[in-house]
Amino acid sequence: MLRSMRSRHHRTLFVDEVNGGHRRSRPPAGRLALWVGASLLLVGVSAGASQPAPSVPVVVKALAPPIERKLDRAFELAIGRVRESPACGALFSELGRDGTIVLLNSRYYPAGLINEQKVCRRASAYTGVGSPAVRLCRSFGRLSVDRAAAVVIHEALHFAGLPEWPADPQAMTSAGINQLVESSCGL
Ligand SMILES: [Zn+2]
Repeated sequence: MLRSMRSRHHRTLFVDEVNGGHRRSRPPAGRLALWVGASLLLVGVSAGASQPAPSVPVVVKALAPPIERKLDRAFELAIGRVRESPACGALFSELGRDGTIVLLNSRYYPAGLINEQKVCRRASAYTGVGSPAVRLCRSFGRLSVDRAAAVVIHEALHFAGLPEWPADPQAMTSAGINQLVESSCGL
């Protein structure tokens, strides 16, 4: 019962999020396909199916081509690991969330010019705890696909509620989260 209630909640959240976002230069059919994909996914989760529909990231504001290309490949890899690796999926379930749903609800933006000179000097992406908005730095486009997938999962964990030191003195450092993601997800 609890599981089905959570599924309904996630479905509602997901539809709201998608309706509020934009799908870069894709036809309306693309958005429909995404929604159908999510529905199939939810059915798949409850039925234990092993081949859910493929998924693409929600890009709200246009990314530079190298960043977008890297995100597409990294997102696909990240979703695959979260779905297929129990240890990787557990990073999210320990926070009470479904990693696939969290990733599908993440929204990607380019880092602004000012933050390229600030936050991006020590990070390739950033977000706020509990926020779906992930800002991607230019350096993200130069990462290996594995590394970029680890970054995608790291930021999604923040969306799922994972805090980070030093904002939370009890939390893991950014490097500690990276190590956890890499070891749990085989990246
Ligand atoms: Zn972080």
